[in-house]
Amino acid sequence: MANGFIDKARITCRAGNGGNGAVAFHREKYIAAGGPDGGDGGNGGSIILKVDDNMSTLMDFRYKRKYVADNGVDGQGGRKSGKDGQSLTIRVPRGTLVRDAETNEIIKDMSDDQPYVLCKGGRGGWGNQHFATPTRQVPRFAKAGLPGESHDVVLELKLLADVGLVGFPNVGKSTLLSVVTKAHPKIANYHFTTLYPNLGVVYVDEGVSFVMADIPGIIEGASEGAGLGHDFLRHIDRCRLLVHLVDVSGSEGRDPIADFDAINAELKEYSPELATRPQIAVANKTDLLMDTEQLDAFRAHVEELGYEFFAMSAATHQGTRELVRHIAQRLAELPPVTVYEPEYVPRPPQIDTSEPLEIHREDDTWLVEGPWLQRLMANINFSDYESRMYFDKMLRQSGLFDRLEQMGIQDGHIVSMYDLEFEYQR
Ligand code: GDP
Ligand code: MG
Repeated sequence: MANGFIDKARITCRAGNGGNGAVAFHREKYIAAGGPDGGDGGNGGSIILKVDDNMSTLMDFRYKRKYVADNGVDGQGGRKSGKDGQSLTIRVPRGTLVRDAETNEIIKDMSDDQPYVLCKGGRGGWGNQHFATPTRQVPRFAKAGLPGESHDVVLELKLLADVGLVGFPNVGKSTLLSVVTKAHPKIANYHFTTLYPNLGVVYVDEGVSFVMADIPGIIEGASEGAGLGHDFLRHIDRCRLLVHLVDVSGSEGRDPIADFDAINAELKEYSPELATRPQIAVANKTDLLMDTEQLDAFRAHVEELGYEFFAMSAATHQGTRELVRHIAQRLAELPPVTVYEPEYVPRPPQIDTSEPLEIHREDDTWLVEGPWLQRLMANINFSDYESRMYFDKMLRQSGLFDRLEQMGIQDGHIVSMYDLEFEYQR
């Protein structure tokens, strides 16, 4: 794409693994056998997403695609817990949709300021300090940490703005934005100046403000057959109101009526719904007009089509104040900006349970471990009934309980797997 604006990126995220618990025994001079004092493994760091309003593109993700949080440190003797792995915070522009890379389902719409945990760090394993009970005084076991979650996601930017400016290049969109907001968009008398979106807050009155965005690329490519246009239109998907600018002076030899219709045709082709979005037609560069013929013709055209009409000069600020006030009034009556609901439902991991698990007996405790069990447990939400049922099904399917029976497990014994312990019942 000829445009430098990055609005889609695929990244791989992996949370840190939990550290292992330690097996250790307290030793002091003159004390023959001390108690178990193996410390716990630290939790793995998580991958956290957070909105950063200083970002307006996904450019940062073009070259850096892998994000890995730190592992938790293993526990040590003397009840010393391992340090938790540091979480990694990934900053994204407001309005970034996070999708599952495989199914394309929306995981999260990053449109508010709440940090979002995309991948949870693995829980640290318990050291043997926890496993001393009256019947189990010398626990020679500790628990391994669980792996951190990982996820391949696609980030897609759908800007969060109340108002989207649309129109051909050089009609004055960036100029208007710079006049009514504190944003400093590039303004130049040549095309293709806007390579990234500019957002600005328009303060109308005390307590009344809205966000206006100047969207890059619209039409530039499409009008030249390069097919760029539609990609950019997704950035106005969420705008509640469109402000459609034309250069009514025809200073570049363009025909405002033809331009206006061409843009609306593009919008309609991209999304019929977007074409019916509230839209205000604005004739800019009135300071250059010799007579009002063009202006009157344009006004008649858009009003006949049912659009509201405004005339202004972004250069001399004439009419910009009135436009801004009117936009604020319209917005007050319009529904709020769309926030997308998550669609993604975590699926139980595809796990092959055929590899036999390791079983160790310590008094009345049965320790069960194995790679697939570790992976399964890292992906099971034990507070969710369905997930617990699935976990139970997998254990049964693996033949674990039959083996425990053969090895002599009794009702009331403890089955201990990583950070889960439960009483065995036939
Ligand atoms: P954009 O491509 O739509 O963002 O257009 P810009 O805001 O970059 O403006 C393109 C050119 O038109 C710049 O040279 C501006 O100074 C000029 N311009 C913008 N608005 C007006 C206006 O109201 N009157 C005049 N005379 N020039 C304008
Ligand atoms: Mg511009």
